[in-house]
Amino acid sequence: MRYYTLKHKGVAHVAASEDGKRAYILRAYLTMNIMLIKGHDGNIPGLAEAVDLASPNVEILSPIPHPRQDVICLGINYADHAKEAEGFDREAFSKEKPDPIFFSKRVSYSQGTGDVIPLHGDICDSLDYEAELGVVIGKEAYNVKAADALDHIFGYTVINDVSARNLQTRHKQWYFGKSLDGFTPMGPCIVSKDEFDGIPELDIRTYVNGELRQSSNTRNLITGIPEIIEILSSGMTLAPGTVIATGTPSGVAMGMDPPVFLKDGDEVACEIDNIGRLVNTVSADPDALARLQGIK
Ligand code: MG
Repeated sequence: MRYYTLKHKGVAHVAASEDGKRAYILRAYLTMNIMLIKGHDGNIPGLAEAVDLASPNVEILSPIPHPRQDVICLGINYADHAKEAEGFDREAFSKEKPDPIFFSKRVSYSQGTGDVIPLHGDICDSLDYEAELGVVIGKEAYNVKAADALDHIFGYTVINDVSARNLQTRHKQWYFGKSLDGFTPMGPCIVSKDEFDGIPELDIRTYVNGELRQSSNTRNLITGIPEIIEILSSGMTLAPGTVIATGTPSGVAMGMDPPVFLKDGDEVACEIDNIGRLVNTVSADPDALARLQGIK
């Protein structure tokens, strides 16, 4: 099943779709977070109202516009990306140990596909994209072994871990440079785990203005999804609704020679097979940023 947060005639709803074309509004849940806490059995109520996802009356939002907590991120979790990041700034990105790098990302508001990525040009001179597989937790996890990790996953989504490289390197710690308003586009939907055979191995790509920049497969993760859940849950509870961004492959702008960072008007499309395509346009317009900040 594919789960959406969408606006229909101006009102936000949680909706479920089997084919990604026609979605059924699940009125039992006010928000996706509530659905993730309560759980969903995968059945669509007989009287559920159907909407056409391509209809002009429907706006697809981020599946989780307001994550309950910061998004947990993995840094340098594809070997080819480790190499290019170190080439950009050895001090900021060198990784000597095989243990995963965790950091977090503040998400005041996650925007969906079709929305803007604010340029933040007054403080950011090096805006970059990172396509990532997002893991959404559906069942509380504490002290969970890798072999049992799948039980605790609700599903998967696409995340663009937008990054201000100059802030990431200047402040040594990545938090600020990853957490500017509008830096976590997500979507278009969450695909439930039962759509995949075990832990999914999916092709992941990014296009900038139609040019292929990133292309890999999630099987290339250095620390795999079950191991990520085992390590994190060995000491911290992962609540339903927790989002884990599993890291990005090579091909980001800072890895290019010379780097070609994002600029006003660029279209960034992050896509993962069998999940979907997340398309956003970079905008220097202060009104676009203010609109994102005003969405409650
Ligand atoms: Mg990242």
